[in-house]
Amino acid sequence: MTDNPLQPSNTVKINFMFSPHKDMLGHTLANADSEHKAEHSILSAGTEVTFLDTGIIKFEPNTAATQSLVISCAIHGNETAPIEIVNQIINDLLAEEQKCGQRVLFIFGNPWAMNAAERFVDINMNRLFCGHWQTQDLSLKEVKRAAKLEAYVANFFAEEPVTVTERLHYDCHTAIRDSTRTRFAVYPFVAERKLPNSEKDFLAHAQINTLLLQQKPANTFSSFSSIKQNAQSFTLELGKVQPFGSNNLADFNGIDKALRKRIAGETLPSSVQGAVEGFEVCHEIERTSVDWQFFIDDSATNFSAYPEGFMVWQDGDKSYQVENAEEYIVFPNPNVPIGQRAGLMLKKDNNL
Ligand SMILES: [Zn+2]
Repeated sequence: MTDNPLQPSNTVKINFMFSPHKDMLGHTLANADSEHKAEHSILSAGTEVTFLDTGIIKFEPNTAATQSLVISCAIHGNETAPIEIVNQIINDLLAEEQKCGQRVLFIFGNPWAMNAAERFVDINMNRLFCGHWQTQDLSLKEVKRAAKLEAYVANFFAEEPVTVTERLHYDCHTAIRDSTRTRFAVYPFVAERKLPNSEKDFLAHAQINTLLLQQKPANTFSSFSSIKQNAQSFTLELGKVQPFGSNNLADFNGIDKALRKRIAGETLPSSVQGAVEGFEVCHEIERTSVDWQFFIDDSATNFSAYPEGFMVWQDGDKSYQVENAEEYIVFPNPNVPIGQRAGLMLKKDNNL
């Protein structure tokens, strides 16, 4: 696959930076294994564009920016809707049809998995961050890429001018499984941290009304930017996995608009009380042995609710039954290897 034939027709114009490909998506698919030399350009409004690497491009306005934004997608290669949305935003920035009011670093995370239309090729990249890549086989492309992505993000933040007071990272995904709640965000754990109102406004504006608050550090990409780079960051689950060209992009209007307003440097309207509901993990499900039994139906959607007393899993004399009035399953996957996480049970967090 070299180019995406099903792109909207207004993107057909060739972007000089990606030539002979028409856009960053086409360029990334065709250059997964190519060496890339950084290229630099200045748009007529004075915005500096640096094409840093395959799937990585930076925009810096010539006005005083107050935010550094990292917008990433394709950490899982088959999660195409966010890739199409971000690709179009990049086209519009280069065509100067989208205002650039803040510093922005765009990342297409996993070019090999994008080409293969798979979640990953050798290893799930979204478990490799916070330096976790160092414990893996360093000859694997995805392990090297995770190390590079950490470096690009760290440099992007390190180079910010003194006018910048906020670091933000939106890591855009779509889920494998249907969800009772179409869109949700995961907020990485950082001790004593509370969600700022400006980010609640962002989520509400993006029509993301559900927030999962993590209770312990993880090694996802968004955890890296929160924990190591002091950013407000989120893993955004924006809908369901579909092949390129099969997404109904209207379902992604909310995130598209919210990202564009952030990039332009516009203030988002205040969200109403309760616009974003919080959930926290009350139990981490682990597949403990070959005898381990899982009682959540295979067809259960994310955020399906279970009443108090419901048996979630059993292994010999050990088990877990729902302890709160209601708990919700996310990411159920009983087919993981023994010792790995098979899902999370959540309860509502009313302190958001
Ligand atoms: Zn994903």
